[in-house]
Amino acid sequence: MRSHDVLIVGGGLAGLRAAVELNKANVKVGLISKVHPLRSHSVAAQGGINASLGNHPRGDYDTAMRHAFDTVKGSDFLADQPAVVRMAKDAPLRVFEIEHWGCPFSRTDEGKIAQRPFGGAGFPRTCYASDKTGLAMMHTLFEQMIRYQQAAERQELVVYSEWLVIGLAVDGDLCAGAVAMNIKTGEVDGFRAEAVLFATGGAGRIYGNSTNAIINSGMGMAVPYRAGVPLKDMEFVQFHPTTLCGSNILISEAARGEGGYLLNKDGHRFLADYPDSKKAMEVAPRDIVARNMAREILAGRAVEGTHFWLDLRHLGEEKIQKQLPGIRDLAIRFAGIDPADRPVPVQPGQHYTMGGIDVDRSGASPLKGLFAAGEAACVSVHGANRLGGNSLLDTIVFGAITGEAMAEFIAGHVRPASADKALAEAAARGREAVERLLGGGGAEDPVSIKDEMKKTMMEKVGIFRDRADLSAALAKIRELKDRYRRVGVSFKGKILNQELRSTIELGGSLDVAEAVVAGALAREESRGSHSRTDFPKRDDAGWLKHTLAALAPEGPRLSYRDVELGYFEPAERVY
Ligand SMILES: Cc1cc2nc3c(=O)[nH]c(=O)nc-3n(C[C@H](O)[C@H](O)[C@H](O)COP(=O)(O)OP(=O)(O)OC[C@H]3O[C@@H](n4cnc5c(N)ncnc54)[C@H](O)[C@@H]3O)c2cc1C
Repeated sequence: MRSHDVLIVGGGLAGLRAAVELNKANVKVGLISKVHPLRSHSVAAQGGINASLGNHPRGDYDTAMRHAFDTVKGSDFLADQPAVVRMAKDAPLRVFEIEHWGCPFSRTDEGKIAQRPFGGAGFPRTCYASDKTGLAMMHTLFEQMIRYQQAAERQELVVYSEWLVIGLAVDGDLCAGAVAMNIKTGEVDGFRAEAVLFATGGAGRIYGNSTNAIINSGMGMAVPYRAGVPLKDMEFVQFHPTTLCGSNILISEAARGEGGYLLNKDGHRFLADYPDSKKAMEVAPRDIVARNMAREILAGRAVEGTHFWLDLRHLGEEKIQKQLPGIRDLAIRFAGIDPADRPVPVQPGQHYTMGGIDVDRSGASPLKGLFAAGEAACVSVHGANRLGGNSLLDTIVFGAITGEAMAEFIAGHVRPASADKALAEAAARGREAVERLLGGGGAEDPVSIKDEMKKTMMEKVGIFRDRADLSAALAKIRELKDRYRRVGVSFKGKILNQELRSTIELGGSLDVAEAVVAGALAREESRGSHSRTDFPKRDDAGWLKHTLAALAPEGPRLSYRDVELGYFEPAERVY
């Protein structure tokens, strides 16, 4: 059994930021990541991070409260407003902090951090490092982690790369640690900790067409869910309007923020034809743009029925190369198209998980000692639709807040003697589960179960939804869960057994998918990314509330919680 004061699961931006905060407070930290931290999905973030710095000439009057308002409106009023206000107020502090740690942000002519327009914002508010912002932030934070790791006066900070967390130990109402499998050796061990943080990122790969890294299986949300922690607002799944046709590699919103046009098969900027996007056009929020693209597809006005043109040619080669070099490179490599010469074929694809592990504003979940931050968590600051640039912000703001809260929690916490027994039992269960898959195993093939899950989620739980599709999807996911009980792996080795790893994760994906579908079927209204053709209107009287899904033997058991308002009254969303 390994032992640390605090265990962090996840080496993306949220996990690293929390690690730095905890280490500053002289807490002994173990950080587990199923891939090397620098391969976390955060490195793929392109377009930027929001903070009301007001550096752009058009952003003179930008304030934290304006940022908060845009976020709440973007969320279709489902976000908890005090949490949003806190995030918007902390934003400049956290951006300057990471700048001072060396993050190479792009600059204005005067040398200030440059800002560009992003969807749903009243001002150019998005700070960026060309179109590789996540990569720049990750390397900066990783360096800080090493700095703390090596500083003699600090406590230890141990990184466990390529360990997959497969379970939690619960002792009464307390989280007693976690159980993880070493992917390199197949060893399963218990990790003793006074507090555990889940910073495990999104669950995009439960869908077929996703911009997410393949590692974003949702397993990190499933582990606490199985241990009794509810998942919140899982029905809200963001579809990004511009992913490369076919591969669904992200083409950042920055491409539209910098002035790119979206054209249908007639070469027409169709967003002008829809009342909710006719003013903001390409920089309306993602839910609105993606929905209007889906409407064009249904009306037969998409190119070859599947995609649209993202036209950047009028920006000129120099601007494209300076502001969007990564996008240009991706388009050339993966579509054979140079955006300086030809429009890029794009289509909407799954992009972000607004829902997640239910936590409060300090990152604490209902299970004592269990915390969550970043995309895996639902605070909620993104409500029914996240604005571009707010997720990177969420990771460093709530990574820091949660790290601080965890340091406080463990300072006043006495671990009961029974906790170690609970952990040993959980580790034994984890070992048995792995042995069962390797040993006997059934005849069901994990790959076909995964393919059917992804197809079902794409076809029936996508941009537009209705009762018939959602009911069919729920029945299908339950059938797949049943088949999963008889799943087998063909390769029985323990060393780097990727089939074993992905089969274990598939069980988590199915639990998360079921929570998404159940929440979507129950929510009989349209709000943000959740668009029901059979209930096309937002219904504040009935549905201005968060969904909580708790895992019961028969599946997700749903309950609801009021949204925290206090600053802005729900109003119509027109851009
Ligand atoms: C292509 C792309 C571009 C984006 N661009 C932007 C942008 O420009 N601006 C913006 O604001 N947002 C953007 N986002 C969203 C944003 O990047 C993510 O929401 C954010 O980086 C998530 O960070 P995280 O720390 O929560 O998780 P991640 O970076 O996803 O890290 C998750 C970590 O958890 C670990 N992990 C997961 N499960 C387990 C397990 N069971 N056991 C052990 N370890 C586990 C992984 O190894 C990884 O280290 C983008 C997202 C994508 C996909």
